[in-house]
Order: sequence, then C-alpha cells, then structure tokens
Amino acid sequence: MTELTLIVPCYNEAQNVDAFYDRCLQVFEPAEFEVIFVNDGSKDDTYKKLQHLHEEYSNVLVVNFSRNFGKEAAIYAGLHYATGTYLSIIDADLQQDPEIVKHMTEILEKKPDVDVVAAYQKQRHEGKFMAWCKDHFYRFINRLSEVELRENASDFRTFRRNVQEALLDMPEYFRFSKGLFSWVGFETEYIPYVAAERFAGTTKWSFAKLIKYAMEGVISFSTMPLQLATFCGALVSVFAIVYGIIIIAHTLLTGIDVPGYATTIVVVLFLGGIQLLVMGILGEYLAKTYIQGKHRPVYVVKKVLEKKE
Ligand code: UDP
Ligand code: MG
Repeated sequence: MTELTLIVPCYNEAQNVDAFYDRCLQVFEPAEFEVIFVNDGSKDDTYKKLQHLHEEYSNVLVVNFSRNFGKEAAIYAGLHYATGTYLSIIDADLQQDPEIVKHMTEILEKKPDVDVVAAYQKQRHEGKFMAWCKDHFYRFINRLSEVELRENASDFRTFRRNVQEALLDMPEYFRFSKGLFSWVGFETEYIPYVAAERFAGTTKWSFAKLIKYAMEGVISFSTMPLQLATFCGALVSVFAIVYGIIIIAHTLLTGIDVPGYATTIVVVLFLGGIQLLVMGILGEYLAKTYIQGKHRPVYVVKKVLEKKE
C-alpha cells in the first residue's frame, strides 16, 4: 500500500510539473509515494508533460479534466483517486516544498491523535491592502459562521484516510476547502511555513476571483447574512414607531406641517436600498441552492492515466 499520496491540482503549469516531480524524488523514495496530478483544463502543454511523467514513472496517476473546473474540483477529484495512508494537498508551482510534507507525515506518524497537519504562512509576500482584506475576511467569516478558520492556513495539508473519507462524503458543488476541513473536525496541528516564490508562471488568482471565492466561503458556511432582513426590519420598525409618535405629537401641538420632502425622499431611498440589498443576498443563496439542486457532478473527467503496476 502506498504510504503517501500527493494531490497536485495543475492549471497551466507546464513549466513546473517536471521540476515538481524531481523535487519529490529528492525528498521521497519512489516506492513510498504516489503523485496524482489533476490537469484542470490547462491551455498550455501541461497534459503533454504529465503524459511523459506518467510514461516514465510508475507512481504517477494523471486525471485529465474535460475543461477548467477550478482548484477545489481538482482537489476533490484527487481525493477520489488517492490510495495512500497519508494524503497531502500541494500546489504544482513549488511554492510549497515537498520537504514540508515529509515533516507533516512525521508528525502524523509520531502523534496518533493528530489527523490533520496544516501549514500556515508565517510571512506573507502580498501588499498591505491585500493583507488587510484577508485579515478582515477571516474575522468576518469566523464571527458569522459555524466553522472556525485559521488565518493564513491554506489547503496545504497532510491528513489521514479518515479525513479523506469525510471530505468525499461531502459532494457539495460549491467547495471551500478551508471551511470543509474545519467542518469535518478532527484533531488538527498547525505548523508555520514560508511560501517560496513561484518556480515559473504566474498566479491564477486575481482580486476579483478572490472576492468571489471569499463570498462563496461565507455563503457556504453561514446563513447569517439571511438574517440581515430580520435585523434591519426590526430596527427600522422601532425607528418608525418612535418617529411616528413624534410626528403625531408634533401635529397635535403645532398643526399640520407640509414641508418634509427631504425626510420622505431619504427614508424611501434608504428603505429601497436595504430591500434591494436583502433581495440580492437572498438571490445569492437561492442561486447556489438552484445549482446544487441540479446535482451536477463537481467535475468531468476526460481521461485517467492509471498508475502502471
Ligand atoms: N489551480 C487549478 N485550477 C485553477 C487555478 C489554479 O488547479 O483553476 C492550481 C494551480 O495550478 C496551482 C494551485 O492551484 O497548482 C494554486 O494556484 P496558484 O499558484 O495560482 O495560487 P497561489 O499560489 O497564487 O495562491
Ligand atoms: Mg502558487
């Protein structure tokens, strides 16, 4: 039985996959690990490179997607094909050193109570604005949701098969790994690491993509935004009652006052704004429910290059 499975999502990583595999060979004995490369609809030569690796090495399995389904789908597919006692999710760009995976498996071997070893970034390379956004995202989601997310911890984790089974049992379409790992529970140990520079190529994350991902995280793990309507409604009602009493008293004492255009327009716009916002939030949840309701698969496989025995 394979000791360790490395799950490697790849999207346009043609310049990295060979270097990644070489680095694995420096760290592990060929017999003790397998690599599952998931080619997530790359537009460059990634698949060709992976075919070569598969031809040359017997511990390489390649899952080729029919199009780009995203990193989360690639991780889910990797989990499906993994056979190792320990499993690790790692990027193809060598920002995360396989040496750290070795350290993670040693922790799992030494401590039978620990089921997941997750790495968090000690230092971040990004700018102040990005760091500020991420800080606030973590605070926001931790306050709103039932799951507790560790700041700066990514999907770079090594875990046991019981965790793999738990994750596979969650076939949800909108996958937010950090939240899923937290949701399934298990004893998790966090270790610090420093992410290296990308070996080659560029990051696939734009600011807009990160915002979308963050919103998916919140919607997947919290229904609190839906309560915004109840909260706003209650607040506005109390305000309306107090204001109503004031107006009635004022009218009784001083007679009918015609001006009030500014107040009226402000109130109408304010309430209109809140109503649209709440409807938008409702729509987000409804859309996710609608798509999930179709029970479409998380990914579609074009071809699997099985490990050669
Ligand atoms: N990735 C993927 N599908 C995508 C985008 C990214 O499989 O649609 C993979 C990518 O090839 C890499 C990993 O996810 O192995 C992390 O991506 P990236 O390095 O761009 O993210 P960053 O390290 O900048 O957070
Ligand atoms: Mg990267």
